[in-house]
Amino acid sequence: MTVRHIENKMGIHGSPTCELVYKNAKAELCGSRKRGLIKYVMALMNGARLGIAAQSVGISQTSYDEALAYAKDRKQFGTEIVNFPAVYEMLSTMKAKLDAGRALLYETARYVDVYKGLEDIERERPLTPEEKQELKKFDKLATALTPLAKGMNAEFANQNSYDSIQVHGGSGYMLEYACQRLYRDARITSIYEGTTQLQTVAALPHLSTGEYSAIIAELEAQTVAPEFEPIAARAKAMSVKFNEVLESVKSTGDKELLDLACRHLYELAAYCIMTQLLLRDATKNAELFGKSLLVFANYAEAEVAKHYNFVKSLSVEAIVNYKKA
Ligand SMILES: Cc1cc2nc3c(=O)[nH]c(=O)nc-3n(C[C@H](O)[C@H](O)[C@H](O)COP(=O)(O)OP(=O)(O)OC[C@H]3O[C@@H](n4cnc5c(N)ncnc54)[C@H](O)[C@@H]3O)c2cc1C
Repeated sequence: MTVRHIENKMGIHGSPTCELVYKNAKAELCGSRKRGLIKYVMALMNGARLGIAAQSVGISQTSYDEALAYAKDRKQFGTEIVNFPAVYEMLSTMKAKLDAGRALLYETARYVDVYKGLEDIERERPLTPEEKQELKKFDKLATALTPLAKGMNAEFANQNSYDSIQVHGGSGYMLEYACQRLYRDARITSIYEGTTQLQTVAALPHLSTGEYSAIIAELEAQTVAPEFEPIAARAKAMSVKFNEVLESVKSTGDKELLDLACRHLYELAAYCIMTQLLLRDATKNAELFGKSLLVFANYAEAEVAKHYNFVKSLSVEAIVNYKKA
């Protein structure tokens, strides 16, 4: 086995990347035959995707921390720039995406913990029928949420590191500030372990079977603190929009139209789920999550309207316009 060469990358310089070339290398079969691609590779990929989701949340957090510290320190027109609405809006949106993305990551990790815990037990003794059901349920939930957690957090890391530079102004473009490194490091998160487009492909079966709709409906049944009931009503209106366009695309029976709408349907599902998770967090601890919930609900509502309008404008006949491009 030889190393072709160490790659010259735009970011993640703390981790060298290289191509390995195997020539007449001895190989040993591990695991069972015919389970490689579906069982082992998918399990490996889902584990790695959860890791990238966590890496993305870390980049989002540091991007926010760096931007906030700079905005509190930097003065323009006699005041710290954090006091300008244009700046505090950027910062509060960064924080809201960070908290929503982290909630999605933790929820996914919780599902993985449950089913992996049951798999560990299964290695020592047979599971009861209830435990078997539980394992199946949480495995399915983890498989459905992993592409959302990876794709959305990767996109948020890119957006937050971009905004972190924006808060820094011209200084952010200089190599001495950490925000430019975060911007370069963030860029890989939406590419490796499956691009964001591939995450939407992984999410497609869960859109088609109505799994995301069921997850949202279950979350909507939760009790929220009275002060957040108006947000819960707005969140419900978002999922009505999601389900409406999902059903309208599905009803055409056109596979290419479904593929074309997939990224938008994926984001619609993700925004509905993240809003619900923040509602739950804010109900438990309003001081920690209340502000992020209010800001995220505004942001999510606008994103949902955008994707809803886009999908509504699509038709089987319109596909040709996209193909021309
Ligand atoms: C720094 C770095 C480290 C890496 N580390 C590893 C590693 O450790 N192990 C490893 O195996 N690989 C590794 N990779 C490879 C990495 O996983 C791939 O580059 C990545 O999955 C994208 O695949 P690709 O480069 O072949 O792009 P392509 O698949 O050629 O994609 C090009 C474009 O087409 C889109 N696209 C492709 N297929 C579809 C589809 N079916 N539907 C919709 N859109 C599609 C993509 O979204 C993208 O926009 C690494 C790459 C980098 C840059």
